[in-house]
Amino acid sequence: MKKIVIVATGGTIAGSGKAGKTANYHAGTIAIENIVESIPLINDVADLEAIQLFNFDSNEMNEERWIILANKINELTKRDDVDGVVVTHGTDTLDETAYFLNLTLHTYKPVVLTGAMRPASATSADGPLNLYQAVCLASSDEAIGHGVMAVFSSTIYSGRDIQKTNNFKTDAFDQKDFGCLGYMNDDKVMMFSRMFKKHTLLSVFSKMTLAKLPAVGIVYYYVGADARILDFMAQNHRGIVIIGSGRGNYNKAWLEKIESLSAKGIVFVRASRVQQGIVIEDEYFDPDNICVPANTLSGQKARVLLMLSLAYTNDIKEIKKIFNEY
Ligand code: ASP
Repeated sequence: MKKIVIVATGGTIAGSGKAGKTANYHAGTIAIENIVESIPLINDVADLEAIQLFNFDSNEMNEERWIILANKINELTKRDDVDGVVVTHGTDTLDETAYFLNLTLHTYKPVVLTGAMRPASATSADGPLNLYQAVCLASSDEAIGHGVMAVFSSTIYSGRDIQKTNNFKTDAFDQKDFGCLGYMNDDKVMMFSRMFKKHTLLSVFSKMTLAKLPAVGIVYYYVGADARILDFMAQNHRGIVIIGSGRGNYNKAWLEKIESLSAKGIVFVRASRVQQGIVIEDEYFDPDNICVPANTLSGQKARVLLMLSLAYTNDIKEIKKIFNEY
C-alpha cells in the first residue's frame, strides 16, 4: 500500500455551519483527522498520515505561508516512505497556491490539491468524495510526473491552468480552453492529456531556496480607469500585472504611464480580464516591447510567476522567456 500524507490548510472542506445548510458557514474549523474519519473506504486506498499545517479560510493565504507549505511538502516528498501528498485548501485562492507549488516543488511524486464548495456540515457535502479521489490520484502511478494537480467533481486539473469559474456550484473549476487532464471514476484514474509547460523538477524555481518574494501587485483596467493608480502601485511594488481588456489592452494614458514607470525599473506584465485566449506581444499596445505578455496565465497566476521570476533574475528578456516556458 502506498503512503500518502494529507497536508491540511483549511477551507470549506473543513468548514461547518448550521446542519444541512450550504451557505453561511465558517471555513477552516474542522480538524483533518475528523474529515478523514468521515470518509468510507479512504483507509483502504493508502496508508494515510495527516498533518494540520493551517486551518483557515484560503483568503488568509499569503506569500510567507506559501513558502511554509512548499517547504513542508518538499520535506515530505524527500522521505523514502512517502509516495505522494494531498493538500486540502479553500477554493477561493486554490488556483494561485496550485501554480505556486507547481513551480516550486522539487519532486516527481504526485501532489494533488482538493477542497470543497459545501461545508462538511451541509447536505451532500462535496468534500468527502473530492478528498477520497485526491488520495486515489496521489496514490496512482499514472499521476507521477504531471506536476501539481487538483481534483474537483471527479475531474483532474493541472496546477498551471486550473481556475475557479463558479462561486456557487460544486462543479466550480475548469482549465480554460485546455479541458482537463483526466477524470476520476470512483477510485479509478483516467488520464487523457499531459502538461507541456515546465514544472516541479524542471522548474528553476524548485531549485531556489525560497525567501521573501519581491512585491508584485495587480491592477485592473476598465473603461475610464485612472492611470494614476499605476503611480500609486509603483511606490511599493517591484512589478505590476495589468489585467487589461481584450488581449491585455488599455488606453493611451495607461501606455504613457507604463512607459515612464518602466524606465524607472518597474516590470510590467500584460494579462487579460478575458478568461480564455492568450496575451502575446503587441506592436500597438506595447510598441517598445516593454511589457511581459502573460501568455495564457490569469492575472493572479501571472503575479505568482512574476514574483518568482523577479526573485530569480532582473533580466527582462529572461523573464519573457520564462513566461513562454512555464
Ligand atoms: N472561502 C472559502 C475558502 O477559500 C471557500 C472555499 O473553500 O470553497 O477557504
